[in-house]
Amino acid sequence: MSSHEHNHGHHHHHHHNDFHDYNEAIKEYKKTFPSKEDVLEHTPDPAVKELIHNMEKVGLETVFDRFDAQKPHCTFGMAGICCKNCNIGPCRITKKSPRGVCGADADLIVSRNLLRWVASGVAGHGYRGRESMLALKWVGEGKLNLPILGPEKLKKSATTLGIDIEGKSIKELAVLVADILLEDLSRTVPDKHKTMHAFATPERVKVWKELDILPISAYHEITDALHRTTTGTDSDWKNIMQQLSRCGLAFSWSSVLASSIAIDSLFGLPVRSTVKCNVGALKEGYVNIALHGHSPLLVSEIVRLGKTEEFDALAKKHGAKGIQFYGICCSGLSSMYRYGGVIPLSNAIGAELIVGTGALDLWVADVQDVFPAIMEVANCFKTVVVTTSDSARLPGAEHYAYDHEHSNIAQTENLAKKILTRAIVSFANRRDIPVTIPQYEVNAEVGFSLENIIKQFGSIEPIAQALKTGKIKGIINLVGCNNPRVLYEKAITDITSKLIKENILVLTNGCASFPLLKLGYCNKSALEHTGSQLKEFLGSDLPPVWHMGECLDNARASALFRALADACGKDLKDMPFAFASPEWSNEKGVAAALSFRLLGINSYHCVEPPVQGSPNVMKYIYEDTKETIGAVMVVDVNPDSLGNKIIEDIEAKREALSWS
Ligand code: SF4
Repeated sequence: MSSHEHNHGHHHHHHHNDFHDYNEAIKEYKKTFPSKEDVLEHTPDPAVKELIHNMEKVGLETVFDRFDAQKPHCTFGMAGICCKNCNIGPCRITKKSPRGVCGADADLIVSRNLLRWVASGVAGHGYRGRESMLALKWVGEGKLNLPILGPEKLKKSATTLGIDIEGKSIKELAVLVADILLEDLSRTVPDKHKTMHAFATPERVKVWKELDILPISAYHEITDALHRTTTGTDSDWKNIMQQLSRCGLAFSWSSVLASSIAIDSLFGLPVRSTVKCNVGALKEGYVNIALHGHSPLLVSEIVRLGKTEEFDALAKKHGAKGIQFYGICCSGLSSMYRYGGVIPLSNAIGAELIVGTGALDLWVADVQDVFPAIMEVANCFKTVVVTTSDSARLPGAEHYAYDHEHSNIAQTENLAKKILTRAIVSFANRRDIPVTIPQYEVNAEVGFSLENIIKQFGSIEPIAQALKTGKIKGIINLVGCNNPRVLYEKAITDITSKLIKENILVLTNGCASFPLLKLGYCNKSALEHTGSQLKEFLGSDLPPVWHMGECLDNARASALFRALADACGKDLKDMPFAFASPEWSNEKGVAAALSFRLLGINSYHCVEPPVQGSPNVMKYIYEDTKETIGAVMVVDVNPDSLGNKIIEDIEAKREALSWS
């Protein structure tokens, strides 16, 4: 009898598929979901309350109405145990059916679903980064006529990537750097991920290598993730989680860092400045243009041309006082800190409320986090919506865009001119549209980067010293999306208030940064609510929350973390650092938190991930990765107790360093 037959003859009873009852946990979780009424009562920005009331008056629904209409939420989906990877399903894990039709158990279904999310996150940031990498290459080759506004960043990145910059022109370097970034994004033949090896700490690379999670390229890891989650392929949940980690690293070093190198090289480093923000800064009588999305290429050109004499004169000829730009989500934030005069108004969740002011003549929607819901509101107020990407269209919007091959890349200036002209015509056509603007406006300090922080302090040393002595107790990168599962913008502001009082410096970017911008946390006035130690360090010039820009600018936070760890002679995982996305919601958000955990930095959240159906996956992300990568995911739906956990963990890190 062969051993195969021998094994076959035995009945093995494995109990790892015993049904884990998630029903009670999900039921309790759902009870914490706020209603629209709760939002109206408790959301921290009074402008948001007025904007929601405005929408009610004109009979328009909001994200909060639609969230309520989805109640009660699907328990299977929330627990992560619904599989629709093939058309035998959908299958769900219940007491009666502890396996899907193919035999997949809860662990496998939960882990596969999570992996597909992270793979989508890698694609999200990677895809928009790709447009800037291509643009950098084509500028270098002369196919696209744009100035290279970040030559210092380009040279520094080239040197770090091992390129000999001696005697090479800026354009030559642009091509060489872009080629490496694009190769790391899309390589299929296994080789070193060059950006990762050049920029990650040796300690981290060693950890990742031992875990066998080094990525080949972003495209490869996305494809691998989709491949192994197809029916009957990878049936080992632990092996699925290993691919999750590879995707996390592909996200960090291609989708985020490489994208950020391309964008900074081409469009320039952030400029520290004071901006006006919130809806009170909306100016009637101007051609008002909103910039919404995530891809800076066309947006930069629109802003540059919009500030020229030519377009100012054209706007005035049509009866406007001039052209004014507003920032929604990340395209708004990245143009805000580079070009000045762009007023940040709202994150993605609140975008439709901004359209509902009736004050916008044209809305540029490029890619990602542009909810289809904005169209109904835009139609109601005759706001012209313009889409600019082949992969992101909105029915009813006008399309002034790059094609699928970017074959019209040389038309960038023309596209921008057409969009600006369209905005001016729209202004002239919209003179009779009623405008309702809640009068809330505040100043905010923006444009923080490692480069300008070092300039401000002379070197990294004063900040490292302040960390060691406890003037700064710790630093948190507090970012991410919003999610109607928690009170809109309140988890973010509650946690921030608590942390700055405890002398923890807050870095922020992206959607989470809007309430911090709008409610004065990025203003020196917030020093009043800051702990005395941190206040002493900040002096009279700096706010306790440093605004670093859009969500790709997680790269700026991790660069500051790295520089401080180096200056202190410590490993990243031992430093009193934290990552939080209290109100996270989208796929990029899962990947971002994972990428900081892979650096050895805990991630903290007020929104549950869909893992409650699998005790094994829960234990893996909440406990086991402490041993392997030095960090875990921490979830507590209550912002107050989550804030306490962050403080305790940071204090424990300090104690371990004897920095108490
Ligand atoms: Fe069901 Fe398996 Fe198909 Fe998923 S892959 S839908 S669990 S049969």
